[in-house]
Amino acid sequence: MYIPRICKCGLPTVLRTSWTATNPGRRFHCCSKPEQDSCGFNGFYDPPMCPRSVQIIPGLLRNINQVQEVATNNEKELQRSRIFYYSVGWCLECISC
Ligand SMILES: [Zn+2]
Repeated sequence: MYIPRICKCGLPTVLRTSWTATNPGRRFHCCSKPEQDSCGFNGFYDPPMCPRSVQIIPGLLRNINQVQEVATNNEKELQRSRIFYYSVGWCLECISC
């Protein structure tokens, strides 16, 4: 269970995840206000990551993002195909009437 800290604003912190090259997937406490109003408070929640994790995680994330992009493109293509075949089917019904 996450136990928030108190930031310089006097508010409970929120838990976020870092996706930087040096701390991929490492969670940290930070101010709950939007970035432009933030007091800048932050501190790591998770312990430092081992060098092997720091090396591997960015590559895994890139692979996941590539697979998701392909899946999204396939879904869009499927939608376009459905619209096309629905239109063709509608036209053929009209012609046969
Ligand atoms: Zn704050």
